[in-house]
Amino acid sequence: LSQLDDARRTMQLQQDFISTVSHELRTPLGFIKGYSTTLLRNDTTWDLATQREFLNIIDEEADHLTALIENVLESARLQSNTLPMNFQPSRIDSIIRDVVMRTQLRYKDVKIIVSLPAVLVQADSVRLTQIFENLINNAIKYAPGSPILINGKQERDDLHITVADHGPGIAAEHLAHIFDRFYRVPGQAASGTGLGLFICKQIILAHKGRIWVESAPDEGTIFNILLPIRQNVK
Ligand code: ADP
Repeated sequence: LSQLDDARRTMQLQQDFISTVSHELRTPLGFIKGYSTTLLRNDTTWDLATQREFLNIIDEEADHLTALIENVLESARLQSNTLPMNFQPSRIDSIIRDVVMRTQLRYKDVKIIVSLPAVLVQADSVRLTQIFENLINNAIKYAPGSPILINGKQERDDLHITVADHGPGIAAEHLAHIFDRFYRVPGQAASGTGLGLFICKQIILAHKGRIWVESAPDEGTIFNILLPIRQNVK
């Protein structure tokens, strides 16, 4: 019975996922189609500034589509263990600081406080970048207005990193599921596909690390990551 329940839940998640993804694909496609049709109309001429504005929207929405499709493909490859990783000794503190710098350029009002020791981990830096982009973007999306605190400390042979916000948090009944593929907390306004945290977890597991979440409604959410340290940087 419990297997049947699991299978049903997975099927339901997949159906929800298909409707979410079709909606998520349609929105940018709608913009691209609408603005290009407008630009191509024979009966109207647009000044250069307006043309540029429309083209920028088309450009951004095309990037959005690409990112979405990449996420879907990547999650399938992670699921089937066919995503190649390129492990190199990497400065995790620099990787995170780069992500933070880029985020601050885009979201000037978001306060991000970082405190990290300089350590080397054996990592695929592109994939680790993706994890921190995901966690930070989630905090911006689901905990709007909250500062984001990123901390790291060495615990024996591991680096323990936390990404915390003071947002609305996640109710206890959802905590066990948020790393599942396609899982989204029902009834929230922000859009998404439920793939981000699944991708984070698979990448962390490939690094022989751990990821887990602690959260209390109305207090905030803390994502925890443990990564094996290669060596300290003097
Ligand atoms: P998506 O953002 O596409 O829905 P994710 O896998 O990144 O997918 O996140 C899964 C769910 O976890 C989200 O739908 C959201 O409900 C919840 N979540 C993630 N990060 C936070 C956060 N910082 N605060 C509150 N809820 C969060």
